[in-house]
Amino acid sequence: MNNNSTVLYESIILIIDDEPTNLALIKIYLKAYKILIARSGEEGIKLAHSAQPHLILLDVIMPDMDGFETCRRLKSDEQTQEIPVLFMTVLSDIEDKLKGFAAGGVDYITKPFHDKELLARVQTHLKLQQALQAAETANHAKSQFLANMSHELRTPLNAILGYTQLFKDDKSLMEKQGKQIDIIHRSGEHLLMIINDILDMSKIEAGKIELESVDFHLPDFLKTLVEMSQIKAQLKGISFIYEPMPDLPTGVQGDEKHLRQILLNLLSNAIKFTEQGQVIFKVQSLKMKEQTTKYSHIRFQVEDTGIGIPPEQLEKIFLPFHQVGEQRLQRQGTGLGLAISRQLVHLMGSELYVESTMGSTFWFDLDLPKVSGISEPVTKEQQMPVGFRGGKRNILIIDDNMENRLFLKTMLLGLGFEIAEAVNGRDALIQMTHFQPQLILLDLVMPEMDGFEFVRKIRQNPSLKDIIVIAISAKVFQQTKQESLAAGCQDFIAKPVQFATLLEHLQTHLGLEWIYTQAQNLVFPTREKLEELLALVEIHHITGIHQYINQMKEFDPKLGLFISTVEQFSKKYQFEKLIEFIQYSGEK
Ligand code: ADP
Repeated sequence: MNNNSTVLYESIILIIDDEPTNLALIKIYLKAYKILIARSGEEGIKLAHSAQPHLILLDVIMPDMDGFETCRRLKSDEQTQEIPVLFMTVLSDIEDKLKGFAAGGVDYITKPFHDKELLARVQTHLKLQQALQAAETANHAKSQFLANMSHELRTPLNAILGYTQLFKDDKSLMEKQGKQIDIIHRSGEHLLMIINDILDMSKIEAGKIELESVDFHLPDFLKTLVEMSQIKAQLKGISFIYEPMPDLPTGVQGDEKHLRQILLNLLSNAIKFTEQGQVIFKVQSLKMKEQTTKYSHIRFQVEDTGIGIPPEQLEKIFLPFHQVGEQRLQRQGTGLGLAISRQLVHLMGSELYVESTMGSTFWFDLDLPKVSGISEPVTKEQQMPVGFRGGKRNILIIDDNMENRLFLKTMLLGLGFEIAEAVNGRDALIQMTHFQPQLILLDLVMPEMDGFEFVRKIRQNPSLKDIIVIAISAKVFQQTKQESLAAGCQDFIAKPVQFATLLEHLQTHLGLEWIYTQAQNLVFPTREKLEELLALVEIHHITGIHQYINQMKEFDPKLGLFISTVEQFSKKYQFEKLIEFIQYSGEK
């Protein structure tokens, strides 16, 4: 703490005052500091810009521009807004003191000055300023550390999830192994959720979260959320009711990704903390006093009949890592969801509210600009292709991590691509003397020659400059994405790489047409077998269903297509659809 005085000694103080007597006096009182002087508001603003003082003492009454206006201008400029301003005012003038605070001042000193008081106030604010800077530096270091850690954790997790995803659909696995793989996959996904939450929280705290406005189809966006929630509610045996008001707009503009994150958090909490009864998701257009045709004022509300939240906990649940209630339920979450959701709602310029009496109700209102011409996205069947039409396609995978390369390679070889691998940029340039890729999947962080340098190099080479390059990185800050695009990559995929995302990118950039499994004739089981299966489906007995269809497959291989259709539905817990399908099959 002692070294504070040395640091304070070096502090620069800017005094903005037009009165020579005042200036002379303050200079004597503050002789221990480096003093800069400006005799008008305009001059003071310029000096504050160039010298970046640690503190500004500002007179209220000055000709041309008074102290309040000077302060407002200092505070509205990014380069000077953090410098604390102390007003110098006349003792009795309360009005001026209040105006000073309103203009952004942190304190005031009254005239006539008392040397010790002046010194004490100046010292206090310099110390505060120093503490603030130290906290900011520490916070920055923390968020940097968390971002790097998340990168380090995501890379191996990428390989784990990638492989379990591959194995999950592997029919040659024994049932026991399949279940174990499933556990590994779910645990990996949980870990990814925690890493993502921590990263989100650190990004928000460091003021680094970027809201990205896009045009989207609101009813379709809500439908997807509802479908996901319905499955979860169904599994818990509670009802899920969706109540959209009929006057909702179709096309809106907003941060779709973060809005989804907030709503999914509120919906999954409501389902998680409700054992009986229902969860109601209400979305309505609010009628505002000032109606505009440009904006929609929308209220998103999630109500449940669950365990509720005690009044003394209502504020605390928004704090990071704060969880109340049963241990068992706490384990299913990170305690960060509401903290993140509330901060995101704040960033969107609104407030997240909660009320809890019998159950809980969470809601928030958003002003979303309306947009026209947004059509409903075509829903793609979640079917995996087995190959693509047309000639051969070469893909070069550049990644220093062997597991990551192997994972991408296994996947792409299976679809019929020609693959070459390289361990860094330099190695890739060598490979490209005999392997001509149409597309490159490029890791960014690598030894010797990293992804950025590599892509810059090939963009300068006339014979290589047109190759499509997709960056793949676990560094998920928007900045990394932008840097990779600026360096010359056409696109960016975040790790862990999801099959479907990768396929979409390949399709877009290579103009591919996928081939799905060859058409088969649909053969149905006997009525008796269908009834037995139906009985299992009606009680949502997932393992029973799978055992039964496996037996069926052994008994009659021609039932392959029927069985895979049942699997498609049961994997997604779409029991209603499955019942419909079995009943339909019975009529054939
Ligand atoms: P978690 O990951 O534990 O769900 P959140 O930040 O989303 O973390 O929620 C914090 C805590 O707030 C929860 O652990 C729970 O105690 C309480 N909570 C949140 N939503 C509800 C709800 N709908 N009903 C009852 N309690 C809730």
